[in-house]
Amino acid sequence: MKLTIIGFWGGYPAPGGATSAYMLEKDDFTLLIDAGSGSLSKLQNKKHVMDLDAVILSHYHNDHVADIGVLQYAWLVQSYIHENNDILPIYGHTEDQNGFKLLTHKKTEGIAYDPDATLEVGPFAITFLKTSHPVPCYGMRITDGETTIVYTADTAFKEEWYDFAKDTDLLITDCNFYEDQDGSAAGHMTSKEGAMIADRANVKELILSHLPQYHDNNDLVKEARQYFSGSIQLAEEGLTWEKSRNF
Ligand code: ZN
Repeated sequence: MKLTIIGFWGGYPAPGGATSAYMLEKDDFTLLIDAGSGSLSKLQNKKHVMDLDAVILSHYHNDHVADIGVLQYAWLVQSYIHENNDILPIYGHTEDQNGFKLLTHKKTEGIAYDPDATLEVGPFAITFLKTSHPVPCYGMRITDGETTIVYTADTAFKEEWYDFAKDTDLLITDCNFYEDQDGSAAGHMTSKEGAMIADRANVKELILSHLPQYHDNNDLVKEARQYFSGSIQLAEEGLTWEKSRNF
């Protein structure tokens, strides 16, 4: 599988940027994980919008779903142009009925996922962990049978991440705060907390994402390095990740 970061800012996009959105590809299947503000524009630099096979959403905060509406318009317009009757499945949880209802439109269909079950989407098997966040939100463990990644989505630190992320090839953590801050009330993690999970869970590589808009984010990496000795990268637009052949 190949992961491409489409957007990574927390809360709102920096100028010219996008908030949470990640593209996961395997063979000819493309899954978009979250669809934050600015992500549809950025996605099209990498992929034709009609080549998306499915979308899955962690929760309904605007910085994760802002571009669902325009994605629906894009599919509507493109389906006329290409005389294509495909429906784009958008997976979401049903603990926010208003949020879930918005997933169904003329050319998209909202599909409920059961957070207690394994969801099969194309070549991917996805399991969920409820995060610690002001609204219901689910982190995801995604495997294609060869490679496994965990995306924390938005969460304050909780010990359940140690097991949930155990032995994964890649962990993408919420890193909305610096080490000396406390993100728990906002439902987010610090650099230290994400790195502690990576260390305890024995993950191979760590990407810090959902990044803050102030200070120098390279400091987040420096902070995280004190707690995790594996590879650490800062999320960047267009950054791609594949499992290293060394492992
Ligand atoms: Zn959120």
